[in-house]
Amino acid sequence: MNLRLAVLALITLLGSTSAFADALCELTGFKITIDFEGGAAAACEQAGMQAVRLTIKPENTPINNSPWYAFKVEAEGLDRVDVKLEYQDGTHRYTPKLSSDGVHWMEYPLNRLIVDDDKSSAAFSVPIEAGVTWVAAQPLLGIQAYKQWWDDLIDRAGIEYSVVGESLEGRDLPRLLALEEQHELLIVLGRQHPPETTGAIAMMAFVDRLFAEDELSKQFLARVGVVVYPFINRDGVQRGHWRHNLGGKDLNRDWGPFEQPEPKHVSQDIARLVTTKSLKPGYMLDFHSTWYDVFYTQKDSDYTVRSAMTRAWLVAFERSMRNIEPDFELNRKSAHNPDSPTSKSYFFETYGIPATTYEIGDDAPISRIQEYARRSAVSFMQAWLNEDPWYE
Ligand SMILES: [Zn+2]
Repeated sequence: MNLRLAVLALITLLGSTSAFADALCELTGFKITIDFEGGAAAACEQAGMQAVRLTIKPENTPINNSPWYAFKVEAEGLDRVDVKLEYQDGTHRYTPKLSSDGVHWMEYPLNRLIVDDDKSSAAFSVPIEAGVTWVAAQPLLGIQAYKQWWDDLIDRAGIEYSVVGESLEGRDLPRLLALEEQHELLIVLGRQHPPETTGAIAMMAFVDRLFAEDELSKQFLARVGVVVYPFINRDGVQRGHWRHNLGGKDLNRDWGPFEQPEPKHVSQDIARLVTTKSLKPGYMLDFHSTWYDVFYTQKDSDYTVRSAMTRAWLVAFERSMRNIEPDFELNRKSAHNPDSPTSKSYFFETYGIPATTYEIGDDAPISRIQEYARRSAVSFMQAWLNEDPWYE
């Protein structure tokens, strides 16, 4: 009871800051709305006949510089609205994406974007064709897109969908499980950080490739059960957060403390699954986005149940990418940072397994992300099948 009240009080407290209210600016000749999943802008102010200044600020501070924004410009009789984003507690990072339906997106031409020298603002002109244009830091990728993706996977691959708990605000935390008689387990995590949609696209393409039903996939799935927690920071995505959950915390720094419900539910579910089904966890992959493509891994000298797999995987993947991009160079950073309670540290320390943070660049085009993810999945399955683990 007390906990419940405390949670509600926290929600009320956070909800009272303007960054989270469904702010609506009714301006002369046009309006700005954010009443949709991911919608976020802290304030707006008319700056001319058809110009607006929007304040973009994070859910709380300190925070990683992932200045998310998403809003609709609605106008009758105007062909464009000039927008200036003014950042607080952060600097410009994401080139605006525009859409007339919230589904199909176009990147704003970089050479027409005016970014301040200190990156404190970005100005651009939003064309208005059929009365409304959506503007977002990245193409929106919300619950409908996830549902479409996993419904297809469930139909195709006999995967079981379940809910492992609720977010702070009561949203379902989904789990996809493909497990029959296998004894080994691959764990996949996604979307701990709301703006990181390129990582989410990679996660989908990677998992799809695991279930592609060719000979490699059959061999892999005969040995390895797969559990996917694809959408961990539900509230953060809903509310257009830069990074944190509704508790104001970075969920990828809560694997160990488990003070936030989202990582807590996921970790407890994995522990339960491993115990009740007598499974051997074999690898953890956590999908993210950052400035460029990179794999954060353990060092090859760090002992795990599959000590040689990460290197074998990534060397083979680099070779595979060179078939389509001759100059491709894989970017791997190896370290173990025990003081940072990330999922990577947690799974390495708790289960003695290799754990990789799989990062995709913010600006990677969708088709390239998908090809990259599929090729990495092929090399991953091959590397898994080629290494006998040190379980026994
Ligand atoms: Zn991230």
